[in-house]
Amino acid sequence: MEETELLIVGQGLAGTWLSFWLYKAGIPFKLIDQPGPGGASLRAAGLINPVTGRRMVTTWMIDELMPFASKAYQEVGKFLDEPVITETSLIDFFPNVQMLQAFQKRYAENPAYLLPGGNQEKFTEWFRYDLGWGSIQPCLLVNVEKLLAGWRNWLKKNNLIIESGFDFSDFRQDPEGVDYAGIHARYIVFCDGKSSVKNPYFGKLPFALNKGEGLLVEIKGLPATQSYKKGMSLVPYRENIFWLGSSYEWSFGDDLPSEKFRTGAENWLRGFLKLPYRVVEHFAALRPATLERRPFVGFHPAFPHIGMLNGMGTKGCSLAPYFARQLVDTLKGEGTINTLAVISRFEKILARPY
Ligand SMILES: Cc1cc2nc3c(=O)[nH]c(=O)nc-3n(C[C@H](O)[C@H](O)[C@H](O)COP(=O)(O)OP(=O)(O)OC[C@H]3O[C@@H](n4cnc5c(N)ncnc54)[C@H](O)[C@@H]3O)c2cc1C
Repeated sequence: MEETELLIVGQGLAGTWLSFWLYKAGIPFKLIDQPGPGGASLRAAGLINPVTGRRMVTTWMIDELMPFASKAYQEVGKFLDEPVITETSLIDFFPNVQMLQAFQKRYAENPAYLLPGGNQEKFTEWFRYDLGWGSIQPCLLVNVEKLLAGWRNWLKKNNLIIESGFDFSDFRQDPEGVDYAGIHARYIVFCDGKSSVKNPYFGKLPFALNKGEGLLVEIKGLPATQSYKKGMSLVPYRENIFWLGSSYEWSFGDDLPSEKFRTGAENWLRGFLKLPYRVVEHFAALRPATLERRPFVGFHPAFPHIGMLNGMGTKGCSLAPYFARQLVDTLKGEGTINTLAVISRFEKILARPY
């Protein structure tokens, strides 16, 4: 039987960050990930936006998350010899008077992360807009595609990844840890995104999966130095390719791309953009969101060898590096998990049989 300290299920942003910090801490691990198109991470725009919503609120813990993420992505980029993060801004074209007023009110009360637009004509070469713009800055833009592929290659080279689906019928607990398919580990941590809603140990947690659809669009001549938003967003993705999205649906029948989204998104783009475009891909994915909009981090109160890093919702790029590190620090006996994120807050729910 092969021995390791920790088994990880899933190599999205959560599993990538957990395994990276484990490696840095010198803690042995093995990762299992289902080959295929993957989960939500590979559909993310990669934007860490500090201000969101109709009331332009500063997002949860962003003053701590943003500097942490900036350093962490620079560190992994250096390790992989491939930069995966850039600092950027999000040009916010006000889609209606209410959003213009919300920007002005928020700026007057608290100017953090906002800059009123200077020259209102600055973007007229590329876009149609009537109500002006402001800038949300700094934002961070993560190249999730490069990060996940680069880290996967490294895992493969070092024989640390098993490319197959995790199957609970091969899983056993013993007093010292867990057994899975010929591997014995002291811990297992599920980083399997939407699959966790069916996890026999964690399925009772208040997940609230959320469907997001988007397009990849080729637009030649549009500066990729910033992202653009007017209700929907255009985010630089690859050379001449912009990520366009996304929808945000709590109630959905399936996780497939829909004609309704595509028609609406293309209508929006034709109204906003003055340049020609070509749709390269239309995609949909389920965000592993939670009812409380806070992540699920830590070990099961009744099964201390079984853990989870999940529930990143719309904010995986900023939450995953930070909370993966908290999990690794607690394994090293060097810290605790934020009380609003730790799984033990659901002790009563998790005590009930699945
Ligand atoms: C359209 C869209 C846009 C988004 N944009 C942004 C953004 O700009 N910024 C941001 O911060 N967040 C964004 N998000 C949210 C972000 O994508 C998620 O928070 C994040 O990807 C969650 O990462 P994860 O690792 O928990 O899950 P996932 O990325 O879903 O990873 C789960 C992994 O587990 C594997 N897996 C699942 N089941 C099994 C199994 N049984 N056996 C083996 N492997 C398994 C999957 O293959 C996958 O690799 C967006 C999400 C969507 C859908």
